[in-house]
Amino acid sequence: MTRALVWLRRDLRLYDHAALSTALSSYDEVFLTFIFDKTILDPLLKKGLRKDRRVDFIWQSLEEINHELKSKSPSSGLMVRHGDPQVEIITLAKSLGVDAVLTNRDYEPSAIARDHAVEEALKLLNISFMSFKDQVIFEKREVLTQQGNTFSVFTPFKNAWFKRLTPDDLAPYPCFNIPSHSEKLGKIPKTLRHDMPSLESMGFDKTDIDTFVRPGMSGASQLYEDFLGRMDQYQATRNFPSIKGPSYLSTHSRFGTISIRALARESFRIMSSGSLGASTWLNELVWRDFYFMILSNHPRLANGVSFKPSYDQIIWESGDHAQKLFASWCTGQTGYPLVDAAMRQLNATGYMHNRLRMVAACFLVKDLGIDWRWGESYFTDQLNDFDFAANNGGWQWASSSGCDAQPYFRIFNPITQSEKFDKDGKFIRKYCPELSLLSNKSIHAPWLAGAIELESAEIRLDDNYPLPIVDHAQARLNTLQRFSVVKSSDSNE
Ligand SMILES: Cc1cc2nc3c(=O)[nH]c(=O)nc-3n(C[C@H](O)[C@H](O)[C@H](O)COP(=O)(O)OP(=O)(O)OC[C@H]3O[C@@H](n4cnc5c(N)ncnc54)[C@H](O)[C@@H]3O)c2cc1C
Repeated sequence: MTRALVWLRRDLRLYDHAALSTALSSYDEVFLTFIFDKTILDPLLKKGLRKDRRVDFIWQSLEEINHELKSKSPSSGLMVRHGDPQVEIITLAKSLGVDAVLTNRDYEPSAIARDHAVEEALKLLNISFMSFKDQVIFEKREVLTQQGNTFSVFTPFKNAWFKRLTPDDLAPYPCFNIPSHSEKLGKIPKTLRHDMPSLESMGFDKTDIDTFVRPGMSGASQLYEDFLGRMDQYQATRNFPSIKGPSYLSTHSRFGTISIRALARESFRIMSSGSLGASTWLNELVWRDFYFMILSNHPRLANGVSFKPSYDQIIWESGDHAQKLFASWCTGQTGYPLVDAAMRQLNATGYMHNRLRMVAACFLVKDLGIDWRWGESYFTDQLNDFDFAANNGGWQWASSSGCDAQPYFRIFNPITQSEKFDKDGKFIRKYCPELSLLSNKSIHAPWLAGAIELESAEIRLDDNYPLPIVDHAQARLNTLQRFSVVKSSDSNE
């Protein structure tokens, strides 16, 4: 009788799952576990994030998995623990007497170090550790230039990605769709049968996550069904935050409550009927692979450094002045309505539209002159879909320090971005209701409106809505000056 323990992490589903599929097809008895990792959760509590929507999302997704496992085999279930995985996994593997621990690969350097430590400890017990590619289509060095190097620019990476792709890369991993596999679910010994730790017992509170994104595999498939009907229009609608254009699936792809292969397969199917929307959306999934590939080949990025080293010479605003500007940005009080609406959307929901992530990030770095790492860190705490690789990639893109970033002299104008992507101010009105009576013309820059319009719209600048905290034209000049230190080396990196 051979036994395996499947360790779930950012792959919270029971279908098309590489590690689970291998365990079910190769072992007689299979157990599943998830560890709420204290080394990750305790720092959140220290920052005061008791109401962390991500933790709640995970908790609810695990509850669904547990329920589903029990419905297949009542004596099975998901073994959920709260502790240090380096201890908990070893204890469970030993107690269950498994031959192997199987898991899907994580590409963040800290996770790689953790997995290595677990593997070494298991080795001493003669238990093997196996990891699988699951959360990306291509990983590490699978997509290379003709010279055998990794890419640092997206478009050639994307072209090589498509060239390399075969139907096998998107084929689903069979799990419980093979009926006999349910019989392989191991009976959890009485001594190991614990209730799932409650959010409260781990120091967290219930959140409003369900209002914005329904957790679990069921939440993911509902959202995906909804998006399928809109995918064809994605190209036309994706840039307008007041329109239901994007998929809103990022939290699900972050936690693996949906399979990335299933998403890519389906967009291919729709793309083959000539859908521009589907091909643009698939492109976004390739961006996701791109940033994972960048992180796994440049793990130094996890140390807070710029991809292009010369950008670490830039001198950012500092002191109380910088703290004040940063606080205004975080709370959506910059006086630039689109930026403020974006930040308020993030604070209220844990989500920010992609166009707005670009606008808000550029504003922080290039209008306020604040170090991009401050913004990266704020997004890290707030985003439901926070993912180190994509977040770091996005911030380094905005600050021009990244691998395939916008040039440093490209500086978004927050007013023209607003006029272009929220023409009638619908999105601004939703998150900045104090501006809702302004005309479609004035809502993008209230300080340019006449006194009569401001009065009839009940706006008192510097009172119930801020005056702009910086002048964009002046800030632009300051930025060009600030970035002049990298000018000479920019093209060589
Ligand atoms: C400063 C900044 C920070 C960001 N931080 C994150 C983050 O922490 N986590 C995250 O998942 N995305 C991040 N992004 C990328 C992007 O904004 C989000 O993936 C997207 O807005 C999520 O919404 P959606 O699922 O509706 O996207 P859709 O438009 O429906 O896109 C489909 C999927 O493609 C992937 N995707 C789309 N754009 C990107 C991208 N630029 N990079 C990597 N993957 C992408 C996501 O998985 C997304 O769910 C960031 C972008 C910027 C500019």
